[in-house]
Formats: sequence, structure tokens, C-alpha cells
Amino acid sequence: MDRREWLGRMFAAGTMALAACDDSSTAVATREAIAAGGVVADSMRKINCINCGHCMPCDFGVDIPGVFLFYNKALDEGIVPDTSGGIDRGEARRFLTALDREIPDSAQAHRCITCYHCANRCPQNIFIARQMERITSLTETLRDALCAD
Ligand code: SF4
Ligand code: SF4
Repeated sequence: MDRREWLGRMFAAGTMALAACDDSSTAVATREAIAAGGVVADSMRKINCINCGHCMPCDFGVDIPGVFLFYNKALDEGIVPDTSGGIDRGEARRFLTALDREIPDSAQAHRCITCYHCANRCPQNIFIARQMERITSLTETLRDALCAD
């Protein structure tokens, strides 16, 4: 199953899973934010992950600390494209190439279905599902830009 098909299926499945499995205030707030289109790119802020692994394993294969550490490293290296003023295709390609080299597709942020099973496991209080949404929003925007004429 390719990435697009996975995203389509998981978006539908994730929405249903959320409705069925998690009524915590965090989950409700995030469902509302997603529904409102609010879970998109924040500023280019680092994620305060200490790589403790308490959030793992993710039942859907996301390498949570790996994704966050990659993102932080990419920020340090200055290779996270700033999409606010348009997309530089060279920058997009460089970032996505580095991402795909470091983290297999099956473990990247877009595999997160926002099930919230990791929600209360993080000692750093990182809102993991939201961060995955944020990173997915960025990577999908960049991949779309590379596919465009
Ligand atoms: S919210 Fe996302 S990252 Fe966390 S356990 Fe569920 S699928 Fe994995
Ligand atoms: S539990 Fe939090 S700090 Fe620890 S690896 Fe997961 S996201 Fe990072």
C-alpha cells in the first residue's frame, strides 16, 4: 500500500478510532482542533523530546522519538524548509531525502492515526499526536510541491 493510500485509509480509520476509544479532554480538544483545521504547521520550534522511549511502542509503527530527533536535528542543521513564503523545491527535496534516508516510510509521522495510546506516557508532556500532525502537514506540503509542475 503506498503512502497516499495509507493516509487516506488511516485518516478515515483514525477519525473513527478517536470517536470510539478516547473521551479524555485532551483527545476531545484535539479532535476539535483537527476538525477545525487547526492542527497544521506551527512555527519551526524544536520538540522537547529526551529520547526516553516511554511513549513506545506505537501500535501503528511510528518511531516517535526517531521522528522527533530527526526533526530537531534538521532544525539544527537548518534544512527544515520555511513554507510561509512559498516552497523552495531544492530545500524540500533535501529535507525529504534526509528524512527518507533516516526513517523508513512505515515509521514516519504520517503513519500516526491519532489513537492517543501514547498520550499520557511522555514525561516531557509532549502532545505527541499533535506534533505528528504538524510534521505530517509539513512533509505532505513539501511532497505535494515536488509533485507539482
Ligand atoms: S497517537 Fe500516533 S504516535 Fe501515538 S500511539 Fe497513536 S498512532 Fe502512535
Ligand atoms: S516519551 Fe516523550 S520524551 Fe520520551 S521518547 Fe517519547 S516523546 Fe520523547
